[in-house]
Amino acid sequence: MEEVDVAILGAGISGLQAARLLQNDYSVRVLEARDKVGGRLFNHTFANGDTVDLGGQWLGPGQERMYRLVAELGVETWPLYDQGDNLLFLGGKPRRYRGTVPRINPMAMLDLGLALSRFEKMARSVDPSAPWSHRQAADWDGMTLQTWIRQNCRTATARRLFNVAVGAVFAAEPCDISLLHALFYARSGDSLAKLLAVTGGAQQDRVRGGTAGLCERMAAELGQRVQLNAAVTRVSHAADNALQVEYTGGAIRCRRLIIAIPPNQALRIRFEPELPAWRDQLLQRMPAGSCIKCIARYDRPFWREKQLSGQVTSTIGPVRVTFDNSEPGRNSGLLMGFLEGDAARHYSAMADEERRQVVLDCFAAFFGEQARHPEEYVDRDWSSEPWTRGCYAAYFPPGGWTRHGERLREPNGNIHWAGTEFATRWYGYMEGALESAERAVREVQWMMQPAGAVHV
Ligand SMILES: Cc1cc2nc3c(=O)[nH]c(=O)nc-3n(C[C@H](O)[C@H](O)[C@H](O)COP(=O)(O)OP(=O)(O)OC[C@H]3O[C@@H](n4cnc5c(N)ncnc54)[C@H](O)[C@@H]3O)c2cc1C
Repeated sequence: MEEVDVAILGAGISGLQAARLLQNDYSVRVLEARDKVGGRLFNHTFANGDTVDLGGQWLGPGQERMYRLVAELGVETWPLYDQGDNLLFLGGKPRRYRGTVPRINPMAMLDLGLALSRFEKMARSVDPSAPWSHRQAADWDGMTLQTWIRQNCRTATARRLFNVAVGAVFAAEPCDISLLHALFYARSGDSLAKLLAVTGGAQQDRVRGGTAGLCERMAAELGQRVQLNAAVTRVSHAADNALQVEYTGGAIRCRRLIIAIPPNQALRIRFEPELPAWRDQLLQRMPAGSCIKCIARYDRPFWREKQLSGQVTSTIGPVRVTFDNSEPGRNSGLLMGFLEGDAARHYSAMADEERRQVVLDCFAAFFGEQARHPEEYVDRDWSSEPWTRGCYAAYFPPGGWTRHGERLREPNGNIHWAGTEFATRWYGYMEGALESAERAVREVQWMMQPAGAVHV
């Protein structure tokens, strides 16, 4: 059986980055279940040649690894269209506003402002590399984000707007998530304000040709080291402490293994001997969020003619946020909307045509009848996708971080953990996926150096 120094599970951006960092010093093999690389980064090309991201798409300030990678691979970024007025739908007449926080009645505005600043202050006090160590960790991890929102937003409007923000950031409902996880997540990406913002925030820039194109370039560099259609089903320990990794169509031996797949997928692999109980229990507490990303293509971005940015916040739903995804230099107008949390769970079970209709009804309610008739429409339900089964990332429900989280990044013998869910900064984002790859690679390098070469 072929043997390599390091096998890597998953050719998402994390697994590919780990392989790039190791390839010069070690023999490496990346095993990918799908027939393409990229994982949660996925391009779709419309009939007119427009390429859109149906998975992760944005990068923003503070994501230095991502900007460095984009530059190394010789790819350009471009800013998301962020001019004109945003729209807020609370029921009744839509309101126009600019920036992240919409203009609402003064009482609700004050209420929301105070709740947001309380949340940010709490988030700033959380160490993103050890959220369990906070002196109030037990209290904060013992309640859902929903409980906290109820206690801290007095007006229904502030609560509803906070809930929309939670859906947009986590692709989950406030009742799903531990308060401590929400605070950690915000801190991990700097602040909730940054996670919500376009210019100056996490939605600032797009990648020319789509983010999956980055993974294709990384895979091209790696050549034969990346093996597609190789779904790993079983990992077993051999007598000489090597690992045997079985996948559809073959098996390989390795000295070290980096697992860079979503936690829910790691649970589907058979380990022999079994992973320790603590690792299994930890992975069981990392469910994925739910999101359907929907994009309609029009002959032009007609909403700009009314000085609208294409950005909507709606407490009515089922689409609750939209963005103008049109690429500069192309004629088409691309409107993108998310179905998130409960809406994604509900519409995941619906027929494709019914879902399309519901999404276009929302677009028409936001931007007028013209929006009901796109030239093309596409969506991707990430909860239905094998090898992912939810997005944007896993979250921790109450009790997860304090009871299990401390050992999240700990290797299990010669098995190391990467992927965005194993990051300390920008957890859930591409940047976090790169950070986790670097850390897993450092562990492997450390463990694989000859005994005499260890410097303390
Ligand atoms: C709709 C959506 C919007 C998002 N928006 C953004 C955004 O704007 N900005 C941002 O930074 N991030 C965003 N994200 C999150 C971002 O896409 C992820 O954080 C990142 O792509 C995760 O990379 P990864 O390598 O850790 O995991 P993945 O991309 O999930 O890669 C894991 C790989 O493992 C493979 N795999 C799974 N099981 C097996 C197995 N048994 N054997 C072999 N291979 C296996 C999968 O096929 C996959 O290719 C978004 C995600 C989604 C889905």
